[in-house]
Amino acid sequence: MNKPLFRIEAERLAAELGSTAEALLERSLRPILHPDFPTRECFLPDELLEFERRGTLTPDRSQHAESCDTCAAMLRSSSWSGAPNAG
Ligand SMILES: [Zn+2]
Repeated sequence: MNKPLFRIEAERLAAELGSTAEALLERSLRPILHPDFPTRECFLPDELLEFERRGTLTPDRSQHAESCDTCAAMLRSSSWSGAPNAG
C-alpha cells in the first residue's frame, strides 16, 4: 500500500467519527488552501445575520470589512446589500 500517512490517519479518524476521510481532509486542508480565512477577525455567520438585520456595522467590524476581501465579498453578497445603485 502506498497511501500517504495523512490519508491513513484521516481514514482512521473518519471511521471513529463516522465521517469520511474526504470530509475530514477538506476541513483540515481549508486553512491551508485559504490561509487568510477565516481569521480571528472574520465575520461569523451570526454576525452576518446580525448585520443583515441591523444594516450597520460597529466601527471595528466595518474596519475589518474594509481590510478583508473575503468578508467584504460576503457582506456585499448578503441580501441586505440592496443599497441604491448597488450593482
Ligand atoms: Zn475577514
